Amino acid sequence: MERLKLAADIIVTCQEMNASGLNQGTSGNVSVRYLDGMLITPSGIPYSKMTPDMIVFVDGQGVSESGKTPSSEWLFHLACYQARPELNAVIHTHAVNCTAVSIMNHAIPAIHYMIAVTGTDHIPCIPYHTFGSTELANSVFEGIKSSKSLLMQHHGMIAMETTLEKALWLAGETETLADLYIKIGGLHSKVPTLSKEEMTIVIGKFKTYGLKTDA
Ligand SMILES: [Zn+2]
Repeated sequence: MERLKLAADIIVTCQEMNASGLNQGTSGNVSVRYLDGMLITPSGIPYSKMTPDMIVFVDGQGVSESGKTPSSEWLFHLACYQARPELNAVIHTHAVNCTAVSIMNHAIPAIHYMIAVTGTDHIPCIPYHTFGSTELANSVFEGIKSSKSLLMQHHGMIAMETTLEKALWLAGETETLADLYIKIGGLHSKVPTLSKEEMTIVIGKFKTYGLKTDA
């Protein structure tokens, strides 16, 4: 797809992310795979003031185009593209419910069959590392390999999918599951979960039929 169109799609995704309450202010960031690297939101510019020419290209070696500063969290976005060659869009937010669960360092277990949207039977929580660090990127690299969305301890969440639209949808589903987990008291007690066998069936169905979203 043409660069300017992808850049415009990134901005629309950022605006939808904030309008839907998934993110606050400029704390989130969005990217799409492009050439051997990615296009990503710039550092510290409000989405309402962002124009497609401000979106930054970072190549596969982590070199960003001159005169532009990518989001301070670009390193783990690049790690996602290296970890999952079949997926093309990454959304990172400090969504309130996901972040609350991450502070308690809980993975979200199979409380609902929709957990299978991640491609596995739980939403993992990866260990805390300083934002922007190589250690955090390494941790994301491992985590995203097993699950298309994950929690980051004391930080927020990441959702990765084939398109920006699907990634935004996955981020919303993940936040809803975190909300549910908190509502049923998951942070403070053991909660009922679906069996491994049932989750294997659902994960299989999701693979076969695909998700009912527009590509
Ligand atoms: Zn962040």
